[in-house]
Amino acid sequence: MRIAKLDTWVLEARIGKPIQFGVGPYGTFSATLVELTTDDGLVGWGECIARRAPRVTDVVVRDLLWPMLEGRDPHDVEGIWDEMFTRLRAWGHYRGFVQEAMSGVDQALWDILAQAQGVPLYKALGGAGRARVPVYASKVYTASFAEMAAEAERYARKGHTAIKIQFGRSAEFGGPRADVEVARVCREAIGPEIEMGADVNSAYDAATAIKICHAVAKYDLAFIEEPVYPDDIDGYELIRRSQPIPLAGGESEFGIFGFRELLARRALDIVQPDVARIGGFTAAKRLGALVHAHNVKYAPHTGFSCGIAHLASLHLAAWAPNLWKYESMFIENPLREIFTEPFPEPQRGMLDLPTGPGLGMTVDRAKLERYRLR
Ligand SMILES: [Mg+2]
Repeated sequence: MRIAKLDTWVLEARIGKPIQFGVGPYGTFSATLVELTTDDGLVGWGECIARRAPRVTDVVVRDLLWPMLEGRDPHDVEGIWDEMFTRLRAWGHYRGFVQEAMSGVDQALWDILAQAQGVPLYKALGGAGRARVPVYASKVYTASFAEMAAEAERYARKGHTAIKIQFGRSAEFGGPRADVEVARVCREAIGPEIEMGADVNSAYDAATAIKICHAVAKYDLAFIEEPVYPDDIDGYELIRRSQPIPLAGGESEFGIFGFRELLARRALDIVQPDVARIGGFTAAKRLGALVHAHNVKYAPHTGFSCGIAHLASLHLAAWAPNLWKYESMFIENPLREIFTEPFPEPQRGMLDLPTGPGLGMTVDRAKLERYRLR
């Protein structure tokens, strides 16, 4: 079996009402998809995260990575990963768009391998014996206190067992001190039984994070996510040692070498890699060994990605050692609904994996064409 053909899909979709972070609005979804076809006709899909400028990743896939892929046997996936990384690192390209592009390629190779074996992708990764995974509902975005409480209550009424709320309010929304009120109204809305985490999207500095964490600890937060910028590892370490709420992060980290330092310094309790950024399943599996060795939790990130990454993350969750929960998104995201069937919905905090070979859902090319950038 050889890789015979590459197609890429550069996608963009706008929504009517942008989603509000404290740090700004988000109204345009984008992604770069990798479609690899083998000489015996198997088609594998992968996604490169592309929160902005998806054409950049497309160029990396086609001009830098494809020359290393053409004619290769997908069974050599780990060696291909090392080759892509080693060759580009020598030129100084070893994070950012390069690893995001490698992520799409690597997922497509694993999708092909699983189809060749006739098993769901999570089993090809080395099954953990789970055909369903626990999820948390993400996310109650920035709005008025009353609107956020009502949204949190809606999730609770739907039967969710864990939810995530948005912190990191900008000055316009009352600043960090208003986050304390957000925690209070959301906890009161959902009651004491449902787990609740908060995502700061790096809006604090370490001192602010420590102060706010002490103020909201009484509302029983399961985690505080990305309180500071991802490269402020000293900040993460200080926050983790200075307040009682478990610390989550990793959606902005690349490869396993960034996580290596975060884990060696015991800076995280919950590790949230994005399979479309970290370098695909190969990197996510290697990270799994690190997570296991450090006895922390694994919680695959999804966010605003296209459906391929949501589905790939679901398979990753079904495989992951020390799994905490999968991030199940509840937002209007046209790019998630690109399959012939709707994306699976959780029931009572659990999500069933598709049973077909590979990713297990069929891409609807007509839907993709609607969002394709030329
Ligand atoms: Mg986040």
